[in-house]
Order: sequence, then C-alpha cells, then structure tokens
Amino acid sequence: MNLLTDKFISTTVGKVSLKDVLTSDTDYELQYFFDEIQLAMFQLLGSLSTIVLKPTMDELRSYLVNGVTENQYDDALKSIDLSLFDSLSFMCSKSDKSGGFLKPITKMISGIECGGSANASGLFSEVSHAEVICTDCAPVLNYNLHMNIKGECFSNGGATGIRGGGTISTLVAAKTLKKTILANTIAVDFFTEKYEYEKGVDNALMWEKPPEGGVYYAHKIGLERGLFALAYHIEFSVLDAPCICDVCGATGAQSIREFSHLKYTGVYGSTKNGRELGAGWWPHPYTPTTKKQEGFFAVCAHGQGWQSWQNFTSYIVGQETDKALSFPAPIVEQYKDLSGHANLLVGGNIADQGSVIGRVYDMYPMPEYWDANLARITKVIKEGLRVKERLSMAINKIFAAGYDKAFVAGIKENAMQQFISNAQSIIQGLLLDLDHKSERELRRKALKDLKQEAISIHGSLISKYQNDLPLFKALVKGQKALFSLESESE
Ligand SMILES: [Zn+2]
Repeated sequence: MNLLTDKFISTTVGKVSLKDVLTSDTDYELQYFFDEIQLAMFQLLGSLSTIVLKPTMDELRSYLVNGVTENQYDDALKSIDLSLFDSLSFMCSKSDKSGGFLKPITKMISGIECGGSANASGLFSEVSHAEVICTDCAPVLNYNLHMNIKGECFSNGGATGIRGGGTISTLVAAKTLKKTILANTIAVDFFTEKYEYEKGVDNALMWEKPPEGGVYYAHKIGLERGLFALAYHIEFSVLDAPCICDVCGATGAQSIREFSHLKYTGVYGSTKNGRELGAGWWPHPYTPTTKKQEGFFAVCAHGQGWQSWQNFTSYIVGQETDKALSFPAPIVEQYKDLSGHANLLVGGNIADQGSVIGRVYDMYPMPEYWDANLARITKVIKEGLRVKERLSMAINKIFAAGYDKAFVAGIKENAMQQFISNAQSIIQGLLLDLDHKSERELRRKALKDLKQEAISIHGSLISKYQNDLPLFKALVKGQKALFSLESESE
C-alpha cells in the first residue's frame, strides 16, 4: 500500500485515497472508532498533502477555492520518491542495533496501559478491544505515536517527539474533508518566511536519513522533515492472517498485533535536556505554544486537571489569563492570512503520568474566536454537567433495588458513557453556532437537546428492564429528577 497513491483512508463509504479526497467533489467523512485516530488522521493527511502539493500561499488559496485537479496531483507526484511512502517503509527507520521493545498495537492508540487494569480506559475511547489492525491503519497509528503520545507511556523505552509530550493540537476545521485537509496543508513560503528558515536546511525524511548526534537542532530541520519527525525506530510485525481491523472496521488480508520500537539517541528542543543543550523549539504547524523564560513550550493539557470535557472550562480560563504569552498554532495564523475566520479542531492526549484514567483524548471543533465568547461556552458546558448530574441521580435509584452492587453499577456506567459521548457531539454542534445565537438561545438549546438525550437514554433503560420489577420501579421513580430539570434563573 502506498500512502500517496492507494486507498487507505477509511471513510463512511469505504476506503479512499488522498487523491480521491483532494480531487473529487464527493464529501467524504472519516470513519475511525477512536477520536484520537480521527485527529491523527487529520494531522497525517494535512502533512501528506503538504509533501505532495508543496504550495505557496497563492496556490493554496486557489486550491481552497477551486480544489486540486487530477492532473495537478499526478504532476506533483512526479517529483516525489514514492517508495518512501510505501506503508512498510513509511516512518519506519531501520536500526542497526537489536533490542527493540515489543508492544501490543493498543499502545499506539493512546499509549494507554495494556493489561487488565480497570483504569485502562479512555472517556470517549474504549481501547480494551483494540488488539488487531489492518495494514492500512499502521501508518496513522505510527503517526499518532510520534506526534501525540507521551514518551512516559512507554516507561524506560519511551522518547519525546518533536512536538513534546501530551501536546494539544489545533487544526483548522472546514466544511468538507477536502477543505479541511487543504486548510491544514502548510504553505512553503509562509512557513519559511515566518520562521526565517535558511535555505539548505535538511528536508530529507527521517526514515531515509535518521538524525545524528545527541542534539536535534530545530534550525536544521526543514518543514517536510519536521512534519514527519521520528523519535523511534519502528517495525510492525505483519502476520499473513486476515483480520477485521479494530481501528477502521474493514477486513484486511494481513494483520498486525504487535510492533517493536527503539528510541533514537538524540533529543529535540521539546525536552528539558534538549532545551538546555540549545536545540531550540521547532515550530510544528499544529502546535499552539506558550513562551516562558526558558523558551517555547507546547500547550499541554498536563497539569491543568483535565479529565474530560468537564474540565474544558479550566483550559479556556487558563488561556484567557495567559493570552499575552500564548501563540496560536502556525496553521491557524496561516489560515487567518488565507481567508480570515476559521473554526478550529482542538484535540490532545490528556496524559497524566500517574493516572491512567486521565489519559483521555478529546476533540472539539470550535469557533476560532471562542475566547471572545468565553461566558457562553462556559454556560453551554455547565448545562451539560447539570444534565449529566441529573441523569446520574435518576439512575441512582437502582442501587436501592436490592441487586448486586457491581451489576447495577455496570448498568449505570454504560448509560453514563453513552450520555457523555452523545453530549459531546451535541455540545460540539452548539459551539459551532456560537456566533449566530444569543447567550440565552444557546443555553436553552443546550438544555433542551441534552435533556432530551438524557431522557431518551433513561427511557431505553426503562424499556429494557420492564420485565424486571424492582429495576423498573426504581427507574420510573428516578424519572422525576430528569423531567423536573428546568432552566436556572437567568
Ligand atoms: Zn484498519
């Protein structure tokens, strides 16, 4: 499979190629079971499109309006060594040393601990069932590992990549997948001028020419090299056994259950060591940064107490107070120059070294000027929390029905999980309407939609247990908590 020519992108209408997405008028929709892979796919496709098109700002502006033609795409491929984008070589540098660590493929999804720990689960992603993947999905998982997963998740064998560990990503969200990928394609002139790149920086891909030495200096890493920067030698163990892929759901002729990794010896400026040795910060296009005395740092969810979208407000508030020292991701700056107003996709691996439960990946499309709308966003999220609390109260009655605690806790947990993930998409939708609705309208709509969702989840429990009298009675008793939920005084 070749990433620049073959159909490896999973969509709701089957697998398509990058060329299909960029050159056709069909609006494809990505289809991956995990939010983190969906986000990694946006990052990967924007980076691949940069490699293929290498546009100037003017060209990119034209692509955004007129799209890319098949001829333009094919012509662009002529100057690229396609063999580097074969899935077996892509981002897989070979090590001359032996001693790579073998890990189950699950590790590439969130870096989540494997094994039977009850805590080993994400809020929006249930990784316990990701054991086998198809070969089409290997590149995006590898990309996810290098761009988004903290080195600490791999204990001693872990390495910090060019973006740093547990870094937030902001991407531009456009109306269609094609436009989103183009909006996240980096214009070569924008990047080199803005970051004052000298001519002659190294642009060779790292699996062709791994970095050498102990310090990877940012000013020597060109755009293409940096977009696909490696921190590990990676090798996938490909089995000649068919599978149904746990990441995209498609059937694959071959399957992958494990990979081996061996960290590179040098350090990037994203690490403390690298910073002290003067490596410098590489301006990754999707990474918002903050400037501190010691230099640039990626914006991380770490240490901000994020566990889920519940704590999203604290992130927003934090941003608000620190505005002078925060810088939007270069891709957002670029889009402002291209066409002004942008909606953003925000995502990140919320990694807390100590707590596996904290390793959650959230993805929010949101308006670019959300900071001007802080109060409204806070209110929408508050409504979400209020409804969630009520749903929890409504279901809690079943604990008094006389059944085994673990059994009823399981019923509750499933229902709450369902609410959280549906509430997330309801809230996402509402936030996109931020500019067009008054605060009051937004709150009312949030309450109405979320309440309806909670009632429907609770209602399906009632019909499921209608023949189990104690549970049924308890659930009906709980209903009041939901129906009585009204708007707080405004
Ligand atoms: Zn797959």
